[in-house]
Amino acid sequence: MPYNSQARRRSFGGNNRFRSNNRNKTRNMVKGRGQYIDPAKFVREATFKEEEKYESTHNFSDFNAHQLIKDNLHAKGYEIPSPIQDQTIPLGLGGSDVIGIANTGTGKTAAFSVPVLNKLLKNPHSKALIVAPTRELAQQIEEEMRSIAKNSGLFGVLLIGGTPMGPQLRDLRLKPRVVIGTPGRIKDHLERGTLHLSTFDQVVLDEVDRMLDMGFLPDMQFILDNLKTPRQSFFFSATMDDRVRKLISTFSTEPVTVSVKTSDTSDNVHQNVVHFSDKNDKIEKLHEALVSDNVKKVIIFDETQRSVERLNQELADRGFATDAIHGGKSQGQRQRALHKFKKSDIDILVATDVAARGIDVSDITHVINYAIPQTYEDYTHRVGRAGRAGKIGHALTFISR
Ligand code: AMP
Repeated sequence: MPYNSQARRRSFGGNNRFRSNNRNKTRNMVKGRGQYIDPAKFVREATFKEEEKYESTHNFSDFNAHQLIKDNLHAKGYEIPSPIQDQTIPLGLGGSDVIGIANTGTGKTAAFSVPVLNKLLKNPHSKALIVAPTRELAQQIEEEMRSIAKNSGLFGVLLIGGTPMGPQLRDLRLKPRVVIGTPGRIKDHLERGTLHLSTFDQVVLDEVDRMLDMGFLPDMQFILDNLKTPRQSFFFSATMDDRVRKLISTFSTEPVTVSVKTSDTSDNVHQNVVHFSDKNDKIEKLHEALVSDNVKKVIIFDETQRSVERLNQELADRGFATDAIHGGKSQGQRQRALHKFKKSDIDILVATDVAARGIDVSDITHVINYAIPQTYEDYTHRVGRAGRAGKIGHALTFISR
C-alpha cells in the first residue's frame, strides 16, 4: 500500500510522508535480494562535482514560478539550478514541449516538476500525468514532487504495480490533479474506467527511451491517446536515438530539445550496495542477486587471481554459466572467455580489475563489486562496464556489515 493514512494521502504537504515513502522504497529495493542501501549521495556527489563547472544562468529565484515552489526548493537546499534545470525550466514555464537529454541523477525530476507544478498552481483546471518505467523511479518522482509542492494542497496519486488496488482506487475517487505511475498500472486503471485522463493537459515521460522500447510502446500509445489535446509534454532521457525522436514527434508539438549530457557512463548506472554479515551470507546474497529477473549479463569483480578462480568455481558448482579472466590466464584463455561472454554462451564473467579494463560488451546489465575497489577511479571504470550504448545498467557493491 503506497500510503497508509488517508489523511496523509490528501495533499502533497504533510508530516510523516517521507517515512511512509522511504519505507516503501526500501521494501521495493529489497525484493528478496538481501539488504540494499542506496548510496546515491556518495555516488551523486561525484556527478555534482562535475556539474559545478557549469555556470548556471539563473538562480531559482529568477524563475517566473509560484513563490511556494521557490520556497520549497530553498527549503530543500536547492540554490543553483543544475544544467538541465537551468535550461529546461524556463522553456517549460513558457509553455513549450521539452525534450531533456541528461544523465540520470542530474536533477531531471525538479526540471519537470517546477513547470508542471507551477501550472497546476496557477491554473485550477490543469492536471498532470507523470509516467516512469519502474516502480522505484515513480516512487522517487512522487517523493520529490511532494516536497516541491509542500503545503500547496495539491493532491497526487501513485499508481504502480505490485501494490494493492484498494488504496489507489480510493485515491482516484478523490480526483487527483497529479497522477504518477508506471505504464502497466496506469493502463489497467484506464481499462477499468477508474482513471480518466481526458482533462489531463500536462504529461511527463521520464526515461522515455526505455518506455518506448521495453515493450511499453503499445501501452504508452494507449495512455497518450487518452490525454487532452492540446497539452504540454516533457520527455526526459539519458539517450535519444532517431527512432525515439520520431515517436516523440508523433505525440508532441514542436518540442525544444535540450541536451546537457556528459560523457561519464557511470551516470547511466543505478548504483546500490549489498550488506553481508559473513562469507556464507555473502555468497548466498550473490546467488540471490544473480537469479533475480533483471540480471541478464554480469561482470563480477573480485580482488585477486585466486579469489577470482575460487568464486568462478563456486558459481560453476552452483550451476551458473560462468568463466573467469585474470592476469594469471593466457591471452588465448582470456579471449575465449570474453568471446563466450560476448556471444552470451556464458552470462557471468568473474574478473580482476586489470583484466576487465576496456571490456566493452554493450549488453552487460550488471556490475557486481564482490570486493570493494581500491580507488574511486577503479570503481568508475568497473561501473562503466554496465549502462553502455545508452542503456541503463546496474552496479551492486558488497559491503561487510
Ligand atoms: P534526480 O536526477 O532528479 O533524481 O536528482 C538527483 C539528486 O540531485 C537528488 O538527490 C536531488 O535531490 C538532487 N538535486 C536535484 N536538483 C538539485 C539542485 N538544484 N541542487 C541540489 N541538489 C539537487
